[in-house]
Amino acid sequence: LSSKSEALIAKENQYGAHNYHPLPVVLERGEGVYVWDVDGKKYYDFLSAYSAVNQGHCHPKIVGAMVKQAQTLTLTSRAFHNDQLGPYEEYVTKYFGFDKVLPMNTGAEAVETALKLCRKWAYEIKGIPENEAQIIVCENNFHGRTTTIISFSNDESARKNFGPFTAGFIKIPYDDVEALENVLKTNKNIAGFLVEPIQGEAGVYVPAEGYLAKTKALCEAHNVLFIADEVQTGIARTGKLLAVNHENVQPDILILGKAISGGVYPVSAVLTNDHIMNVIKPGQHGSTFGGNPIAAAVAIAALEVVKEEDLAQNAAYLGEVLRTGLNEIASRNSLITLVRGKGLLNAIVINCDEESDLAWNICMKFSEYGLLAKPTHGNKIRLAPPLVITESQIQECLDIIERALNDFR
Ligand code: PMP
Repeated sequence: LSSKSEALIAKENQYGAHNYHPLPVVLERGEGVYVWDVDGKKYYDFLSAYSAVNQGHCHPKIVGAMVKQAQTLTLTSRAFHNDQLGPYEEYVTKYFGFDKVLPMNTGAEAVETALKLCRKWAYEIKGIPENEAQIIVCENNFHGRTTTIISFSNDESARKNFGPFTAGFIKIPYDDVEALENVLKTNKNIAGFLVEPIQGEAGVYVPAEGYLAKTKALCEAHNVLFIADEVQTGIARTGKLLAVNHENVQPDILILGKAISGGVYPVSAVLTNDHIMNVIKPGQHGSTFGGNPIAAAVAIAALEVVKEEDLAQNAAYLGEVLRTGLNEIASRNSLITLVRGKGLLNAIVINCDEESDLAWNICMKFSEYGLLAKPTHGNKIRLAPPLVITESQIQECLDIIERALNDFR
């Protein structure tokens, strides 16, 4: 580690809260699939800021939209209208096929918004008695870090001593249609089912084919809202615009964040139809920054890039190339026990237990060889580059990955 990096890390450690455990790399520049550290060393980014930078770092069109808007009007709050918001709302709702959008800033805020919306719909439209609504969630979920959201997390270290928590959630196993059916059959007060189409933070856990379509059908049969958290899986990451598109599912409520802005600016969104969105009345929900002019301009540009550059197609094709290459490496190197994923949201499972620091050490070795990735859930390493990556770059990354893994034999 250079003295420059060391000094910058020391500053963060001294003056910043220790609520993250970053790899010891200090980045100062990014372009496309690459990032550079403060010493000028270049890396492939295989995390993409947890799938926020799908369009590539510093995409000129998205950055251009931001700069132009930043020089014109940055923030009005929602006390007044702004000229960017209406056109963005029209664009994003038509893009995803919904009547209405509620704009927020972060993924967790959008999840909170969806939960509030679901409860209000349950009382005012479905007729569940007040304070009785239950929302079904899945084991090993990750939906963010607010107090309500960690109320239904499985991650004990993320929960311990942060209580008391929010009531009204029923947890069922993920990827288990029957478990959902059983709760729906026995409980009359279910308002919604909140689900990640692929569980990202759980180590890129892909459910069995048909899971989303079957659970959506069950929700429909029981008049329960199917709420898809596509904060990590959305915006072309898995090889389709949305991961639910693989099973032709249209959620009742869709939650988006991260790559809806290409990682250029914090933007999130909750999309749904009139009969649900109309339960929210003025003053009942909001955010000073939600729907601000920069966010609106940036999100339009970021969503246009997804279509113009056919990123879903690229993710679908190169995901196959990446997994094929990783499986070949696994056949030569027993350190990889499993390769899984969809599109360019993938993980390798390392041959060690979840408490081992082997996956961390492998990521350190990747970094030495010029590729940045991070362990998730102990022994899984997520491999999720920006979707603008090319086939020859994927091949180069496979070489780096194999070379690094070979060092551990
Ligand atoms: N939902 C999912 C599925 C996520 O993966 C994340 C972030 N990893 C969030 C919500 C929370 O997003 P944010 O960090 O922007 O609050």
